[in-house]
Amino acid sequence: MTPPTVTMTGNFRVPVPHNEPDRPFAPGSSEADSVRAEIKRVENEVRDLPHVVAGVRAFTGETMDVVAPHRHSHVLGRIPLADATVTTSAIEAALRAQHDWSRTPWWDRAAIFLRAGDLAAGKYRDELVATTMLGQSKTFHQAEIDAACEVADFFRYNVFLAHQIYGDQPASLQGNFNLLDQRPLEGFVLAVTPFNFTAIGANLPSTPALMGNTVVWKPSEKAALSSDVVMRLLEEAGLPAGVINLVHGSGKDVSATAVAHPEFAGLNFTGSTQVFRSLWKSVAENLDSYRSFPRLVGETGGKNAVVVHPSADYDAVKTALIRSSFEYQGQKCSASSRAYIPRSMWDRLRDDMVETVRTLRVGDVTSHETFVAAVIDEAALRRMERAFQRASQLDSHRLLVGGEVHADEGWFVEPTVYETTDPHAFTLSEEFFGPLLTVFVYDDAKWAETLPLVDSASPYALTLSVFSSDRAAIEQALDVLRNAAGMTYVNDKPTGALMGQVSFGGGRASGTNDKTGSRLSLQRWLSGRFVRETLAPATDWAYPYLDRSF
Ligand code: NAD
Repeated sequence: MTPPTVTMTGNFRVPVPHNEPDRPFAPGSSEADSVRAEIKRVENEVRDLPHVVAGVRAFTGETMDVVAPHRHSHVLGRIPLADATVTTSAIEAALRAQHDWSRTPWWDRAAIFLRAGDLAAGKYRDELVATTMLGQSKTFHQAEIDAACEVADFFRYNVFLAHQIYGDQPASLQGNFNLLDQRPLEGFVLAVTPFNFTAIGANLPSTPALMGNTVVWKPSEKAALSSDVVMRLLEEAGLPAGVINLVHGSGKDVSATAVAHPEFAGLNFTGSTQVFRSLWKSVAENLDSYRSFPRLVGETGGKNAVVVHPSADYDAVKTALIRSSFEYQGQKCSASSRAYIPRSMWDRLRDDMVETVRTLRVGDVTSHETFVAAVIDEAALRRMERAFQRASQLDSHRLLVGGEVHADEGWFVEPTVYETTDPHAFTLSEEFFGPLLTVFVYDDAKWAETLPLVDSASPYALTLSVFSSDRAAIEQALDVLRNAAGMTYVNDKPTGALMGQVSFGGGRASGTNDKTGSRLSLQRWLSGRFVRETLAPATDWAYPYLDRSF
């Protein structure tokens, strides 16, 4: 591991972060054995995963089972479902903690999150990986890059970025002393997080908290097992009680109470476009009752395209398509789900893809043979099943491989590829969030005509890949598709954004594009105040130009 160096602004030093390296998890490796031991420990109990409000654990009222998606009869834990009383107590706890936390020096807050980064990369690493594997059905590799590496990266890089923000002060000329007081928002922030990344669960409540805000965090009920580990880790890192209050339950119920509160100051949301739109509308309905205009940050759905020019490297295209369409069962917001392939390449790629996809093992996450595990729940499996049925009824679609679901033991969906002749097909437009790739084949001579089709086929604009070895073709695609994605990859797959390198966020129906992992995403939780002090104030009201001799 590269030893961190230090950087300085003013009198403060913070470590220069680097991306936490992922462990390879080869069969029989010490890291695989160590995570397997942790998996056994987690599997052998049914964990009560309580709310954490003002540092106090509460487990009352209606409950819900947390199961392993790849073995849905296996209950791993239980969560309580918050009612309005629990949510209100979490809001009140956040508001009580606000005064002291907002006045805690930023370097003290930073120290807590730096320690959290080290705990994620160290002491809690295997537990984060094991709970993410079991609760969210990720393979060793997928769980490691998410729950260990990215969690640690978020905590460490956010501190580095916060340091830059606090160090950025206005000029003071002789006779003045100017200060930018980077205040947190007045009120509380609601963080609502999705199931698919433990790292997003860790990042969304902690970004506003690092900047001095207090938070009510509603994690996905489908990621409750790993969210519980994140909360314990933050507490061990020294986060004071009440700064982040974890409330389990229905997103609709918790947010209805939170968004109606006059002290609601902001929403940090990642999830589906439809839910974010509904939250934005409820904020609008409550607008007259708020003390301040709430900040709304939402990173939402995607329909990410891989656009291939005839000059592209064949193996690179194939590898990118397999990995980014089927890793984590296509349940990354950045997963590719549509591809535009030139006819000259498709004749070979089609058979090759079909053959390779058939070899992808679908199964239990603890097997080293598994590439594709289970989708998150039955609703996801049925959504995929409906999409397959719909596509199979259309003359414009041809099923090349997959197209079946298996629900007996786990929520398994076969990795599936369709070819379509319709550039406006629903399979090129809608997000399904599962292992479904649709390919549109274009005539090699029609590259220029194909690019606008990529731009207009879907309302989303999250990630995009362009494959070509022709510089002019790359430039043309970057120009025509400028607003079609927040992250465009050239000759690489559209998944795998890394803190410090590619900040994440998309436009159009994909969200507010506040770029997770950038200064902007921290800045949203601040409301600056300028303090200007004049050292020798004027004592004569009259200006020199005035003739006062009359
Ligand atoms: P989801 O929208 O179903 O749920 C997200 C969160 O919202 C959960 O905590 C859930 O409990 C809550 N929720 C659900 N219904 C709600 C409602 N009516 N009101 C308020 N809250 C509600 O999303 P998901 O299935 O957890 O995650 C998948 C979605 O998230 C996909 O659309 C994916 O593209 C998107 N996503 C986007 C990004 C990004 O950075 N753009 C990253 C990850 C996931």
